Amino acid sequence: MKDPRRLTKIYGRDVYLIKSPIPLVGHVAFGIIDRGTNVLQVRPSTLCFHSCIYCSVDSGPQSKWRTSEFLVDREWLVRWIEEMIKIKGVKVEILLDGVGEPLTHPEIIKLIKDISKINNVKCIALETHGGSLSKKLVERLSNAGLNRINLSIDTLDREKARILTGSKWYDVRKIINIVEWAYENTNLDFVLTPVIVPGINENDIEELIEFAKQLRLGNKIGWPSAVLVQKLETHKYGRKIDHVEEWNWRRFYKWLKYLESKTHYRLILRPEEIGIRKAKGLPKPFKLGERVPLIIVEKGWLKGEFLAVDKNYRRTITLIDTSKKASKGKIVLGKIIRNKDNIFLAKR
Ligand code: SF4
Repeated sequence: MKDPRRLTKIYGRDVYLIKSPIPLVGHVAFGIIDRGTNVLQVRPSTLCFHSCIYCSVDSGPQSKWRTSEFLVDREWLVRWIEEMIKIKGVKVEILLDGVGEPLTHPEIIKLIKDISKINNVKCIALETHGGSLSKKLVERLSNAGLNRINLSIDTLDREKARILTGSKWYDVRKIINIVEWAYENTNLDFVLTPVIVPGINENDIEELIEFAKQLRLGNKIGWPSAVLVQKLETHKYGRKIDHVEEWNWRRFYKWLKYLESKTHYRLILRPEEIGIRKAKGLPKPFKLGERVPLIIVEKGWLKGEFLAVDKNYRRTITLIDTSKKASKGKIVLGKIIRNKDNIFLAKR
């Protein structure tokens, strides 16, 4: 059986297990993304239990565009990571991130343990909004070999955090207590990665900086600071907030510079300062405009998409086809319309 296996339904969407022989490079939502540096983004799950009002990937219970969710088979993912590291030929950071919460993967602890045993893994980091963190969980993550959590908290204000995450149950004060405890009692370090939502939380970033300063976050991993502010970016299929005007990059950096001088805390870091270096990238098997025979293996992640692979199973390719002629098992000719970072999109 070569197709992804349907596991269950969550939030009305089918959840598929991505396993051998589906390639784990090529899709933006799952597997591995190599952007030509010594950091490999590893995406084990598309599921999310938050519903952030600005979510650029339309994740969680409130999603409007998704038709499927994916979990990646742990052993298959580890094999791909091993191969990719061999190709890179340098020590790498594994960043567990994604279009959902990596902590939703049922074998996340085992996965981290497995990754920590791979040669040339320099460090393992995980990105989360933190809603599921507990002392027990952070202790298990640390013991498994996780070095850093990129914590996407956008404010320390409890009510505002609930509004921003679209989750009434979300308790940012509880998360902060866990961070304080974990920083003292485990090997984990934390980096705060808030998103600025103009008009809502730009004035809350200062408090996050004070928190990072007080705890000396970033010290364990040797970073010059530990607050990496993110710019709000709206995407075609992401969630948009009424009356919120997205800043351009100039305005964003102007704000960061202003905050840097006000707080005497660095917010604009060079990639080398946080361990990122250029490294050999994976070759791209298909050129832009090339017509490639594709096998449709399942319906896709978003409406109007299909999950496809090339005949040699080198890459997974998102096929955009709204004609209703496409169906599972068919072989069709797709024209490659995106191949950046080995993420492939094709259309009929
Ligand atoms: S921003 Fe992250 S945590 Fe929030 S809904 Fe999207 S994927 Fe989930």
